[in-house]
Amino acid sequence: MQMPWWTEGVPFQCKVDCGKCCDEPGGVVYLQRNDAERLAAHHEMEVDAWLERDCRRTIDGRFILNSDPISDICIYLDDKKQCTVYHSRPSQCSAFPFWSENLRSNRSWKKTVDFCPGLQDEDAIIVNGNEIRIKVVEDQLAMKGFRQW
Ligand code: SF4
Ligand code: SF4
Repeated sequence: MQMPWWTEGVPFQCKVDCGKCCDEPGGVVYLQRNDAERLAAHHEMEVDAWLERDCRRTIDGRFILNSDPISDICIYLDDKKQCTVYHSRPSQCSAFPFWSENLRSNRSWKKTVDFCPGLQDEDAIIVNGNEIRIKVVEDQLAMKGFRQW
């Protein structure tokens, strides 16, 4: 079986103060169950109460993070384009840019490279194939999501 092109590793280093991938109106952050537990704990809340306060659902019932009603951007992005829950952020956020939808074709990867400065940084370090595989799986699990707590 042919290995995916990224198995050899990809240079990437997230840029401090960028926030571009969070700052997208209409962006959707899918959640795994352990994301909900971690974020509820971060806010010192019960998971049910946190889901009620900070989440909404897709049409098919999966929990996703709320967006600001005016900007339509993630509720956890502050005015300085920093994530206010960075150390507890959802696994799908930490998996970016190594999402299945970005890696699936040359065209989608080129779009991702053009979008993300961390993939264009001369000082970027190589993220190895195993690390990328873990991120791909994390993204897939988040996309699968959960509907009941
Ligand atoms: S767009 Fe890329 S460099 Fe910018 S915050 Fe997102 S992952 Fe980091
Ligand atoms: S949770 Fe944090 S990292 Fe994820 S989209 Fe929101 S601001 Fe960005």
